[in-house]
Amino acid sequence: MKHQDILDKLTLEQKIALLSGRDVWSTYPFPKAGVPSMFLSDGPHGVRKQLGEGDHLGINASQPATCFPTAAGIANSWDEELATLCGRTIGKEAACQQVNVLLGPGLNTKRSPLDGRDFEYYSEDAYLGGKMAAAFIRGVQENGISACPKHFAANSQELLRMTSDSVVDERTLRELYLTNFEIAVKEGHPKSIMSSYNKVNGTYANENAHLLTEILRDEWGFDGFVVTDWGGCNSQTAGIKAGSNLEMPGTIGDSDRELMASLKEGKITEGEIDLRVDQLLDVILATHEATVGGKRDFDQEAHHAVARQAAAQTAVLLKNEGDLLPLAPNTRVAVIGDMALEPRYQGAGSSLVNPTRLDKPLDCLKASGLDVVGHAQGYLRNGKDDTGLQQAAVQLAAQADVVLLYLGLPEIFESEGMDRSHMRLPANQNRLLEAVAAANPKVVVVLSGGSPVELPWYDKAAAIVHGYLGGQAGAGAMADILTGKVNPSGKLAETYPLVYDDTPNRDFFPGRELTAQYRESIFVGYRYYLTAQKAVRFPFGFGLSYTTFAYSDLKADKEKVTFTLTNTGKRAGAEVAQLYVSRPNSQLFTPLRELKGFAKVFLQPGESRTVTIPLDDKAFRYFNVKTNRWEIEGGEYRLEVGASAADILLTASVEVEGTGAPIPYDREKLSCYYSAQVQAVPDDQFETLLGRPIPQDKWDRSRPLGYNDSLSQMIYAKGFVARFAAGRLAAIQRKSEEKDQPNLNVLFIHSMPFRGLAKMSNGLVTTEMTASILEACNGHFFRGMGKTIAGFFANGKVKKERSKKL
Ligand code: BGC
Repeated sequence: MKHQDILDKLTLEQKIALLSGRDVWSTYPFPKAGVPSMFLSDGPHGVRKQLGEGDHLGINASQPATCFPTAAGIANSWDEELATLCGRTIGKEAACQQVNVLLGPGLNTKRSPLDGRDFEYYSEDAYLGGKMAAAFIRGVQENGISACPKHFAANSQELLRMTSDSVVDERTLRELYLTNFEIAVKEGHPKSIMSSYNKVNGTYANENAHLLTEILRDEWGFDGFVVTDWGGCNSQTAGIKAGSNLEMPGTIGDSDRELMASLKEGKITEGEIDLRVDQLLDVILATHEATVGGKRDFDQEAHHAVARQAAAQTAVLLKNEGDLLPLAPNTRVAVIGDMALEPRYQGAGSSLVNPTRLDKPLDCLKASGLDVVGHAQGYLRNGKDDTGLQQAAVQLAAQADVVLLYLGLPEIFESEGMDRSHMRLPANQNRLLEAVAAANPKVVVVLSGGSPVELPWYDKAAAIVHGYLGGQAGAGAMADILTGKVNPSGKLAETYPLVYDDTPNRDFFPGRELTAQYRESIFVGYRYYLTAQKAVRFPFGFGLSYTTFAYSDLKADKEKVTFTLTNTGKRAGAEVAQLYVSRPNSQLFTPLRELKGFAKVFLQPGESRTVTIPLDDKAFRYFNVKTNRWEIEGGEYRLEVGASAADILLTASVEVEGTGAPIPYDREKLSCYYSAQVQAVPDDQFETLLGRPIPQDKWDRSRPLGYNDSLSQMIYAKGFVARFAAGRLAAIQRKSEEKDQPNLNVLFIHSMPFRGLAKMSNGLVTTEMTASILEACNGHFFRGMGKTIAGFFANGKVKKERSKKL
C-alpha cells in the first residue's frame, strides 16, 4: 500500500469511518495519523460551498462564487481551451474556499431532450462530451484540487433516479454512455469520480464491479477514488468490494456497523478495506496543500470577465434572415420579455450557484450603443395569460425598428430531480411571439434554456440566437453578439428535433417504475435522426456566423485529415469544422455517421488556413459483444468534413484493416436496428440485442414495501398512514408547481428509496429504524413506530460511544 505508514497508525474503526463522510460535505480528520479532513462541494459551473447547514439540493445559501454558463452551453463552444479556462477559474475559487474536490463536470450523454439535468451535461455525443469534460478537469486540477466527473454511469433520467435500473446493451453502454467517461479519465486524469444513483443492468452503479473495477480502474487506468452520489450508497460492503471508496453524506456510524459486521462474517477482508482507504488517502493528501496555503479571496471582476468570455462563445446563432443581425449602433430596438428583465441563467438543484453579481439584459442593451425605445415584460413567467402585458408589448414593438424578444424555459421547467413532461415553451410565450411578429416582422428571438424546445413560430422570427444558460455574465455577452462586437461561433452540441414526438425514445422515456429501457440502442440524437432520415429543426453541430467559410482540398489517410478553411466573408470569425466517420458497407447496424474529431479555427476576413484533425483510437472502433472487446471492421470508411452533421462539405475514403472478429448480430432478428426504426422496438428484438430477457418493469404491488422501494410507492402501501403521507407529498408538489417553484425536497423524497432515510439523515435514522418504519408502512403502524422510537433513543447512545472511540 502506498500509505502503509498511515494505515498502520489508524485503528480499524478509524479506517472504516474514513470510508463515509463526517457530515454532508467532509471526511473525518485523524490528525494523529496525519490525515486531514477533505471537503467536497458542487460544481459544476461554479462553486457551491454551503455556509450553514448542508444539503445537496441547493436549498440553503452558499458562498458567493462566479456562475459560469452550464455545460450544455459550454459544449456549444467546441473549444477545449475555453473549457480548461473555465475549469481553471472555478478550481481557483474552489481552492480559495478550501474545497478539495469540486463535484463536476457532469457529462452524462443526453439520451432525451426531456432529461431534467440536460442543462448540466455537455452533449448527446460522447466524443464531444468527453473532450470537453477532460479539458475542464485539467483546468480544475491545475489548482492542486480534484475534479469529480459525474454521474458514472447511464444516468439519463431524473424520475426514480435512485432506484431505476438502466437496461442497456453492452455495445450501446460502451459506445454512447462510457466513451465520454473514458476520454475524461484517460485525457483529464481526474483524481475522483462520482458513481451514479441508478442500477446499470441490474446492479447499483456504486456496487458494479464491471464499471468501477473492470472498466474504470483496469481498462482505463483510473487511480483516484470513487465517491457515491449523495445518498447513493445501497450496501457499503458491496460498494467497497466493487471499487467504491467513499460514501457521502456520512451516516454517523450506520454504514460502519454494516462494514464491521461484514468483516466479522467474512464477507469482506481488512485488506480490501485497506486498499480503498489507501486510494482515498492518496487524494486527501494530494489536495490538502492547495486548500491550506494560498489566498482566501479571488478577483471577482476578472472572473466575471472570464464568465462573459465563455458565454460569448456558447451562444448559437440559429437563424438570421436577411442578415438582420448584427444590429448597427443606434438601431431603435424594443426590448420585450420577462427574461430581458430577469435573466434565466442557470438551472435548479445541486448546481445552483450564488453569483457574485448578475448582469441584466435590459441594462446591458442600454449600455451597448443601441437605442432602446422602451421595454415591456410581455408575459408572465408562470405561463398564465395576461392580455394587458401582451398588448403593451405589441404596442411597443410597432414603435421600434427591431424587436429583441427574450423567451425561454422558466425555472420550473429545468431542475435536478424532475424530467420535463414536454418539449414546449409556455403557450403564453408562443402566443406573444405571434402577436409581436404581426406588429413588427423584424423580431430577433433571444432564447434561454438548457435543453431543446419546439419552435412552432420558427418562420415568424427573423432571427434567433440561443444563449443557453449563460451564467452571471450571459446578458452582457448576448449584447455583444447582437451588436456584432462578438461574432457568434457556437454550434449546437445536441440536435433540435422539430417536435418531441420525433425523438427515438419518446414512448419509453422516462422509465416509470423499475426499469429505464434503452431500447433505441445506439440511435440517440443525430445518430438516430440522420440514419432514420427524420427531418429536424436544427442538426447537431449547426450554428451560423456573421461571416462565411469555405472548405477545400481534403487530403486523408488513416491517421488524419487535412483541408483548407477560408473565411470568405467580411468579418473575422471562428468556425467549428467537424470530422465524421461512416462505414457505408458495414455488416453491423451503424449510424449514418459519427463524430470523431473537430477543430475550432479563428480566421480574419479572406484568411485561409490548413487544418489538420487527427484520427485517434476511437475513429474506427466498435464494441463487439461476442468478443467483449473493441474491434475494427475491415474495409472502406468514409471520412467526412463538414459544418454540421447534416452539412458535409468534403469527403474522402480510406481502407482500414479489420481485427477479423465475427459480426455479433443476426440482421433478421434485429431488423429495427438495421433500419434505425427504433421508436417501437418490439420486446423480442430488444431481448435479442440484450442477450437476456427484459427484466421486470412493473412494481409488484402485492408485495410489502422494502428497503429499496421508493417512497412514491407508498401510494399502494398496506398501511393507511403511508398512503396518506404519499397523498400529502403529491399535494405539496402540486402546490409548489402552481407557485412556479419546484419543491426540490419533495421531488427528492418522491424518488428516494426507503434506504435513503438511513443514508441521508445524517445519522438520525439507522438501517434498523428504517426496517421499523417499513413495518409501519406495511400495515403494522403501532408496532413499527414503537420500534422506531426505541431505535431512536438507542441510536443516540451508540453514536456517543462511537464518537468517543474515534
Ligand atoms: C447530485 C449530484 C451532486 C450531489 C451533491 C446529488 O443529488 O446528483 O450531482 O453533486 O447531490 O450535492
